[in-house]
Amino acid sequence: MSVDIDCVVVGAGVVGLAVARALAMSGREVIVVEAGEGIGMGISSRNSEVIHAGIYYPGGSLKAQLCLEGRHRLYAYCDEHGVSYQRLGKLIVATDEAQHTALQRLLDQGRSNGVDDLLWLDAAQARALEPALACVAALWSPSTGIVDSHGLMLALQGDAEAHGASLVFHTPLLSARCIGQGFELQMGGVEPMTLNCRELINCAGLSAPEVASRIEGLPAQRVPTARLCKGSYFSFSGRAPFRHLVYPAPESAGLGVHMTLDLGGQARFGPDVEWVDEIDYRVNPARANGFYEAIRRYWPGLPDNSLQPAYSGIRPKISGPDEPAADFRIDGPAAHGVPGLVNLFGIESPGLTSCLALAEHVVQQLA
Ligand SMILES: Cc1cc2nc3c(=O)[nH]c(=O)nc-3n(C[C@H](O)[C@H](O)[C@H](O)COP(=O)(O)OP(=O)(O)OC[C@H]3O[C@@H](n4cnc5c(N)ncnc54)[C@H](O)[C@@H]3O)c2cc1C
Repeated sequence: MSVDIDCVVVGAGVVGLAVARALAMSGREVIVVEAGEGIGMGISSRNSEVIHAGIYYPGGSLKAQLCLEGRHRLYAYCDEHGVSYQRLGKLIVATDEAQHTALQRLLDQGRSNGVDDLLWLDAAQARALEPALACVAALWSPSTGIVDSHGLMLALQGDAEAHGASLVFHTPLLSARCIGQGFELQMGGVEPMTLNCRELINCAGLSAPEVASRIEGLPAQRVPTARLCKGSYFSFSGRAPFRHLVYPAPESAGLGVHMTLDLGGQARFGPDVEWVDEIDYRVNPARANGFYEAIRRYWPGLPDNSLQPAYSGIRPKISGPDEPAADFRIDGPAAHGVPGLVNLFGIESPGLTSCLALAEHVVQQLA
C-alpha cells in the first residue's frame, strides 16, 4: 500500500505531538507514526515532570530561549486545556562555600537569560521557607512548577486530531529516501506500507540519530552520535519533607539529585547520572547509597531505609561525559541542505517545558 501526505512526524512523545499539533494548525495534512503502542511511551513518561524556569542554560542557546518561551506557553496552554499543574516554586541550594560561588553564577546566568523573578536567600531565609533544609544559601525560583505530563500529551494529541492530524501506532519508520520534492518512507509493523510525504520531522527521541542515519540523501556527517545517560529515581515512603521543589547546585551531566513532588504531593528523588550503552530501565537498588549521601547534604534528616527504587529515564544526549553539554539541535534544511526535513537531536531536559516553543521553531525551519 502507498499513501501520499503533506507531512510525517516520527515519534508520538511530547515533542512529536506538539510538532504535529503546530503543523496541523498551520494547515498541513499530518500523520504521526509511532513505533510503540501508544503516546508518550519513551522519555516523555520517564522524567521529573518539572516546568523549568530557564535558569541553567548558556546565554543565547536554544535551551535558554525555548525553555523561557516554552514555559510561558506551557502554563497558558495548561490553563486553556485543563491540564493539571502546580506552580510550586523551587529552591536551588548551596551546601558549602564552593557551591555558594556556583549559585551566584547561576543567579547571574538565570537573570541574563531573562528569568526575572529569582531571589537570593541566605540560610535563615531559606529555612523560613523549608525548616528541614540544610544550606548556606539558596536561590528561590517562584515560576518553576510541575505538570501532569501524560495529561499534557493527551491534550496535544486531541488538539492535533481536532486539526486533522492522525496517529498510527505499532508503525516504526524503517528507512527513508529523498525523492524529487519529498520523501519515500518504508514503514514496518503489522501492516508494512510505503508513505510519500513532502515534509519529514524526526522526533524519535533516543532513536533520532538512528532514524536520521536511515534517511538516504542526508549527509552522514549531519548525524550526531547518540549518547545514553540514565537517571534513576527513588520514591520516599514518608510525608514529603519539603513543600517546594528542592535542587542542589547542579552537577556536570544533570541537575543533581533533587526532590520533586508529584501532583498528589508524594516526594521522589532523582535522577542520578549513569552513562550506559543500552536502554535498560530497571533501577539498581544499590544506587540508593549514592542517593542517601547526596540528599543528606541538603536534608540531614533523611531516615535510613526510606527510599525505594521507583523508575528511570534515559537522557538522549549528543555529547559525551567529558565534553561540554550540547545544546538542542534542530537541524532544518538550512543546516543539512535537504528540503522538507527537520531532525531534532539531543532533546533532553528542558524538552518537556520547551515542547510548544520547540514545535514553533520546527514550523519556522520549514517556512
Ligand atoms: C531523567 C530525565 C528527567 C527529565 N526531566 C525533565 C523535566 O523535569 N522537565 C523538562 O522540561 N524536561 C525533562 N526531561 C526531558 C524531557 O523528558 C524530554 O526532553 C522529552 O520528553 C523528549 O520528548 P520526545 O518526544 O523528544 O521523546 P520521546 O518521548 O522519547 O518520544 C520519541 C518517540 O519516538 C518513537 N520512535 C523511536 N523510533 C521510532 C521509529 N523508528 N519510528 C517511529 N517511532 C519511533 C519512540 O517510541 C517514542 O515514543 C527529562 C528527561 C530525562 C531523561
